[in-house]
Amino acid sequence: MPELPEVETVRRTLLSLVVGKTIERVKVHWPKIIQHPDVATFCERLKGQTIHNIGRRGKFLLFQLDDVVLVSHLRMEGRYIYEKEDAPFDQHTHIFFTFTDQTELRYRDVRKFGTMHLFNKGEELRVPPLSSIGVEPFDEQFTVAWLTDQLQRTKRTIKATLLDQTIIAGLGNIYVDEVLFRSSIHPERTATTLTIREIEALHEAIVQTIQEAIEKGGSTVRTYVNTQGKTGTFQTQLYVYGRANMPCRRCGNPISKTTVANRGTHYCKHCQT
Ligand SMILES: [Zn+2]
Repeated sequence: MPELPEVETVRRTLLSLVVGKTIERVKVHWPKIIQHPDVATFCERLKGQTIHNIGRRGKFLLFQLDDVVLVSHLRMEGRYIYEKEDAPFDQHTHIFFTFTDQTELRYRDVRKFGTMHLFNKGEELRVPPLSSIGVEPFDEQFTVAWLTDQLQRTKRTIKATLLDQTIIAGLGNIYVDEVLFRSSIHPERTATTLTIREIEALHEAIVQTIQEAIEKGGSTVRTYVNTQGKTGTFQTQLYVYGRANMPCRRCGNPISKTTVANRGTHYCKHCQT
């Protein structure tokens, strides 16, 4: 599943491709992706609208148009493709935004778990799915003091807490495993047991890992590619995720794999306590 660095990479690529384009018409081949409003209203309201900017909140993309905002979540395998209007497409391509210059932004999603919501400008942050989204790792609000306070409010493991999108936005399974390794914290620790030094290390690991991953265009672990068909390269620098039984890059012992918070979890028994 694309996480913050991958969605940010998609956002940056889309910015260079579709900002300034005006939508002539919209076609929807798989209505379930459109969560709000109904499909006919969705298509009608987008007609004639120009894309002015593309933002991001957590793992959501926000297309800013004249007077509406399109909120898009790629979930497992969603992906945007930019093509000429007459270019061929396959059966996994479900939504077509045709621009006035005969180019098209297409949404392709093999699993069809992705979602789109369309709101009036300004409404999008007050209602689900964005109303409950947590703090971004690059927000001013994301401080050691804030993180300490959040970790005191839960009885869950640190892994489950970091995966919770209503606390920190954008971290998923890959980056949670990575930041816990970098800060030497065992994923099954109860969040309240972390010391202030561990929280400081965790805070730094979150900011640095996300920053480095964005610089590398994200991680291509399964099928993620950006809108230009390029893969990210951060997967070559992962310490634990996807490296079960391979030697730890720090101590040489094999990386363990277990289940924490119902998710496959990679960690080093020797480096993480
Ligand atoms: Zn190790």
